[in-house]
Amino acid sequence: LVKIEGLHKFFGDHHVLRGIDLTVGRGEVCVVVGPSGSGKSTVLRCVNQLETISAGRIYIGDELIGYREQDGRLHDLTPRQIAAQRREVGMVFQRFNLFPHMTALQNVMEAPMQVKGVKKAEATRRAHELLERVGLGERSGHYPSQLSGGQQQRVAIARALAMEPELMLFDEPTSALDPELVGDVLEVMKDLARSGMTMMVVTHEMGFAREVGDTLVFMDQGAVVESGHPREVLGNPQNPRTQEFLSKVL
Ligand code: ATP
Ligand code: MG
Repeated sequence: LVKIEGLHKFFGDHHVLRGIDLTVGRGEVCVVVGPSGSGKSTVLRCVNQLETISAGRIYIGDELIGYREQDGRLHDLTPRQIAAQRREVGMVFQRFNLFPHMTALQNVMEAPMQVKGVKKAEATRRAHELLERVGLGERSGHYPSQLSGGQQQRVAIARALAMEPELMLFDEPTSALDPELVGDVLEVMKDLARSGMTMMVVTHEMGFAREVGDTLVFMDQGAVVESGHPREVLGNPQNPRTQEFLSKVL
């Protein structure tokens, strides 16, 4: 479903992605790990068009992201076309950025109503269903400030799912949480993985990688250093940099 080819990204002179090639099949979970500053977030942000890319191509399905090819040349998409592509992608960040003045239910209903024109009754029904699915059926009337970090993060997942994306991106969704709240969020993500959602997940949770990951990608200094089945990469890392990194997180 996702195909990244020769992706480069510069911030000014800083070459932060140095030719990333990566594919994620439909229904697969790709876990991305690597040291701080290696470019993990930037890859996800490029896939979701929160950053423009400096070179290379990203496809989701058969669609080229951000550009349209014509006469062998790439032309920028219009903001409207970019918005349409972005609707197919859900993203969950380290910091749960829920709307503070809206209840959990309203947070989940908002985008389908505003962006997709879903009717209020239908959006309400779907939002209840999604909150139920993330284990927060009883909390739909709570405001973010009345929820724990883990609960807020689960609302954020429900909110992303409400747009019915074909791809979900997670950027360290549990690293801002107190340890005792991590498990519930990971359970929701595992459940989502088992339901067949295609996911790219940046995380240090190696248990998650082992349990539901189809591929584990190790990045360092803007490049993919090693990738493969999580059991193989974790059990028998080939690259010294992978070995060093894993010895610190495992
Ligand atoms: P972490 O584990 O700390 O989240 P990361 O692997 O996600 O790290 P990125 O956030 O992708 O790393 O950053 C990769 C590099 O790009 C870093 O050197 C960072 O300083 C730089 N960078 C990221 N965003 C910007 C930006 N908007 N402007 C300039 N430099 C940036
Ligand atoms: Mg990051």
